[in-house]
Amino acid sequence: MKLKNYIHGEWIEGNSEGTKLYNSVSGEQVAIADTSGLNLADALNYGRDLGYKNLSSMTFYDRGQMLKNLALYLLERKKKYYDISYKTGATHADSWVDIEGGFGTFFTYSGLAKKMLPNTPFWVDGDTQKLSANGTLLGTHILTPSEGISVQINAYNFPVWGMLEKLSTSLLAGVPSLVKPATPTSYLSHAVFEDMIESGILPEGAIQLICGSAGNLLENMQDGDSVLFTGSASTGKKLKSMPSISKNAVRFNMEADSLNCSILGLDAKPGTPEFDLFIKEVRNEMTTKAGQKCTAIRRIIVPENLIGDVKNSLTKSLDQVKIGNPLSRETRMGALAGKDQYKEVLEKIELLKTETELIYDGKQDLIDADYENGAFMSPKLFLNDSPFTKNISHNVEAFGPVSTLMPYKDADEAAALAKRGKGSLVGSIISHDNDFIAKTAWKMGTTHGRIYVLNRDNAKESTGHGSPLPTMMHGGPGRAGGGEEMGGLNGLHFFLQKTAIQGSPDVLTAITKIYQTGAEKKYADLHPFQKFFEDVEIGDALETAGRTVTEADIVNFGNVSWDHFYAHTDATSLTGTIFDKTVAHGYFILSAAAGLFVSGKKGPVIANYGLENCSFFKPVYAGDTITVYLTAKEKVNKGVKGRNIPSGVVKWLVEVINQRDEVVCVATILTLVAKKSVFIPL
Ligand code: NDP
Repeated sequence: MKLKNYIHGEWIEGNSEGTKLYNSVSGEQVAIADTSGLNLADALNYGRDLGYKNLSSMTFYDRGQMLKNLALYLLERKKKYYDISYKTGATHADSWVDIEGGFGTFFTYSGLAKKMLPNTPFWVDGDTQKLSANGTLLGTHILTPSEGISVQINAYNFPVWGMLEKLSTSLLAGVPSLVKPATPTSYLSHAVFEDMIESGILPEGAIQLICGSAGNLLENMQDGDSVLFTGSASTGKKLKSMPSISKNAVRFNMEADSLNCSILGLDAKPGTPEFDLFIKEVRNEMTTKAGQKCTAIRRIIVPENLIGDVKNSLTKSLDQVKIGNPLSRETRMGALAGKDQYKEVLEKIELLKTETELIYDGKQDLIDADYENGAFMSPKLFLNDSPFTKNISHNVEAFGPVSTLMPYKDADEAAALAKRGKGSLVGSIISHDNDFIAKTAWKMGTTHGRIYVLNRDNAKESTGHGSPLPTMMHGGPGRAGGGEEMGGLNGLHFFLQKTAIQGSPDVLTAITKIYQTGAEKKYADLHPFQKFFEDVEIGDALETAGRTVTEADIVNFGNVSWDHFYAHTDATSLTGTIFDKTVAHGYFILSAAAGLFVSGKKGPVIANYGLENCSFFKPVYAGDTITVYLTAKEKVNKGVKGRNIPSGVVKWLVEVINQRDEVVCVATILTLVAKKSVFIPL
């Protein structure tokens, strides 16, 4: 079966023989990948034009909803993907990480969009700054989708997750993508991609796919485009230095190979929970996905007096890992992605043998498979007895079930060995000694994208050394490529153009749709709390009557709240403080402000939803008179669960002044406001 490519809104077959793709368990042919004859320059233009237009005009909020809808659609069809995934050599557990891990990333980003991103096609980044003495010139930053297309070039080991984790950020940012999965396992990426198109959820031009050689794709990259590459450092460097990329303003994110380590703490002797956790973690990282994981543990750093114990326990544990056909229930480790990958790993093993000793090769009878047809490899453990002089273990990455044991003396040596990987995606420390952990962790920081600490306190809930999480940064410095993916909303910045906006308060309010101090306020007879969500306009304002604070207010508030802090209660205690007299409680000022600005009559405001910022600038004493200005600052199109009342959140700027027009308190309060209808116009 020839895999069709999806470009220009059509499924198109290549016009040559293409590359045969094989089942890595049985050796049978699965599909053919072929990109010959495709007009890739046109495909890129199609994404840049139609894809960009369609995606960039959607709001962040809607793009988040789109990710959720896609994830739900794919989840319903997951069995189909599992059935195909077995052919790549992946066990059920391996496939779960790849398939459902990918969907999980979509869900996480859709949740982040709902909670933290605006219902506009652009995103205001950070606070407004006053750029002039009188506040007539303000500045802020906005982020808009970068005008161009993003090309993703993926490795063969995670054909689904690799594609979806990149799409989760590019689609949410509003940038179209052209996906090029690694050829050997592209038939699985293809199956998922086909359903994404079939779903009809994505706008036209949002995503395209080619399976097979990239041809002249990257020669056609232009200013504004980006490339997200995952694969070997050598390919990555070659692509990054292509003139079309290095000479144009094309952003390039690289996730390359990585000699990740795991350190067993000096305290973690046999018999401790940490020793057992370490053995389990290393075994899992060596055998999950048959060791074809960018985050797998390649270097096992162990106190020198525990080398023998670790070797014995680890090899015993590896002996228990049944290897074979991933379709068999007993199988715990499947095959490598193919015979070519097998050969590459063997070559790296030979290199490792030149300086270090192979101390374990867990060859065993395969379950329901044979070594002849499938790309099966037994786990292999090396020992590097002089890791400061024998460098091969810090240089050569065998992308399979291969790892090297090495001794250290103290925390400094452990960190120094960790750093010899010259830049890794992840390093873990397994210890229950916080001093050791702290000392080692911060020293390793410069060469690691992520540090994972495991011990008895978090073991039950821990996600594992090798699991990148959508809300945490995935990437690493130096050899690991210097890239950054995911990391929550940070992952979106790669696809967004940041622009400083400078202008008057009215101009900034108009652009950002957020009220800026100094902009015009709209006073009206109707109390702003009597307006439905749709009718509240940014700048709607209210000036309250004044309230004179009394001694009795201060005493009563202390009694009601039980807050008897000396500055509110004891006039004799104020020498050396910033107060001249007993001062009103800050929370009383805020409560009194609410008493002044709320409308008591039942109306569209459903509830107090919280407080974002609150600062007290001047003391308020008995006899002072406060007045409040309430201004609609921002509208957030999100409701809360429960009672099913369509609603949105309105943020109000609350400014409290005293009788001398001095600002005593500024806060942003949030109210949940009912909608007239579920759908609101932008
Ligand atoms: P490669 O570098 O050979 O290939 C990676 C991707 O680049 C594939 O999609 C490949 O396509 C593509 N590619 C190769 N040449 C070109 C070209 N001239 N133009 C455009 N695209 C090109 O890596 P492997 O497939 O061998 O993957 C294994 C490596 O990836 C390991 O070293 C591993 O460390 C690393 N890796 C890193 C990860 C990370 O997150 N840091 C994750 C997973 C793997 P094709 O398949 O068609 O050749």
